[in-house]
Amino acid sequence: MLDWLTDEQRALRDMAETFARKEVEPFANQIDRDEVTPPELLAKAAEFGLFGLYIPPEYGGSGVDATSVCLVVEELAKASPSFAGMLTVQIVLCPKTVELLGTEEQKQRILPKSATGERLMAYSQSEPGGAANVASHITRAMPDGNGWRLDGSKLYCTQGTAQTYLVMCKTRTNVGDEGYGCLIVEREDEGFSVAPYEHKLGWRGTNTGPIAFDNVRIDPDDVLGDILTGGFSHREANQANLLSHVATSVGCAQGLLDKTLDYVKERRLYGKDMGELQPVGYWLAEAHAKISACRALLYDTARAFDKGVMEAGMASACKGYIGDTTFDVCCKLLQLWGGSGIMDSTGVNRYMRDAKAKCIAEGASEMHYAILANQLLYGKPTLVPANIVKTAAA
Ligand SMILES: Cc1cc2nc3c(=O)[nH]c(=O)nc-3n(C[C@H](O)[C@H](O)[C@H](O)COP(=O)(O)OP(=O)(O)OC[C@H]3O[C@@H](n4cnc5c(N)ncnc54)[C@H](O)[C@@H]3O)c2cc1C
Repeated sequence: MLDWLTDEQRALRDMAETFARKEVEPFANQIDRDEVTPPELLAKAAEFGLFGLYIPPEYGGSGVDATSVCLVVEELAKASPSFAGMLTVQIVLCPKTVELLGTEEQKQRILPKSATGERLMAYSQSEPGGAANVASHITRAMPDGNGWRLDGSKLYCTQGTAQTYLVMCKTRTNVGDEGYGCLIVEREDEGFSVAPYEHKLGWRGTNTGPIAFDNVRIDPDDVLGDILTGGFSHREANQANLLSHVATSVGCAQGLLDKTLDYVKERRLYGKDMGELQPVGYWLAEAHAKISACRALLYDTARAFDKGVMEAGMASACKGYIGDTTFDVCCKLLQLWGGSGIMDSTGVNRYMRDAKAKCIAEGASEMHYAILANQLLYGKPTLVPANIVKTAAA
């Protein structure tokens, strides 16, 4: 499988596999239990160059393609889907958004520090009215002199420990035009606050919680892209992020399958090897087949993405299908562990919980299927209402 990978991609995957086994696996249960990625692992990730993987070399990264990012993230997720999931926001979504929308000054200001992990980043869109339903969002930047004032609050912001936040919100110009922009807010900005994070079912390697803006001053150089359209004009970043996110789902299911195979080979029941029982072998084989199908879909799509020929809606197809399928696989595999799978001490039920969190985070499966349906039916792979940008003259 994946016989088309280049030598460089294979070498990177091997290095990531070793890093995951040696550096991530020993912390995996602790991350899940304590709901935080230990600073020493973040330091090792920085040393390994993980933070700069997808950032162009001129801004301090290694500038690998999306396929390579997926290969690395899949390996990390086999050990800790939670750690891998935390990284995708940091290493793909945020820097790629800055790379696509930013001025040279903004890129020089943000990307080198992101590449070294010196300043962690977060991406905040979701609000109580629905994450994707941007028409319902109330966080808004209103004109103030030569800049803006930002008020409102967001939900479910992953990386509550971040220093730099990319905030999608409603915007207005001083001539009354309205749109949906992308703003840079720094943790130390006056009026910005991060609420205590909430405990969650899975994806516990990073904290996720509400953030709020009370009259936060936004200077013109803190606006990414066009003030009226920046919030939804970085689709390439969203797509690359979805693919890397889906790679964590594949790695999650594969990690649990690997552990389950080891367990079944050792376990004896009713005086015989557990693997001889029906439906044990059937479920293991079915899991392998489903994960292989998901992997084939993911990397076929990622390769097309890197070549610039990905079919519209395919990132959403991957997110919906692979997220749901790998969650089903994890549920069945966990069953084979009997009571020991329910106990935290075996360190396997976290895979099922992480797989479920991944079906919701970055957009619920149904929402991604709605995007795909819009593409199939109307030729538009989007949920963004066409009337979100309004000119005062209209
Ligand atoms: C662990 C975690 C981390 C997250 N991190 C971030 C983050 O860093 N930044 C951020 O902005 N957001 C983040 N989110 C929010 C996440 O993107 C949303 O939770 C997700 O998109 C679902 O939106 P919602 O919670 O508003 O659910 P709703 O929009 O209320 O949807 C509820 C349910 O309705 C169904 N549904 C929704 N839309 C449709 C549709 N179009 N068609 C059919 N059915 C639909 C689905 O079953 C969905 O689960 C995170 C969420 C989680 C769980």
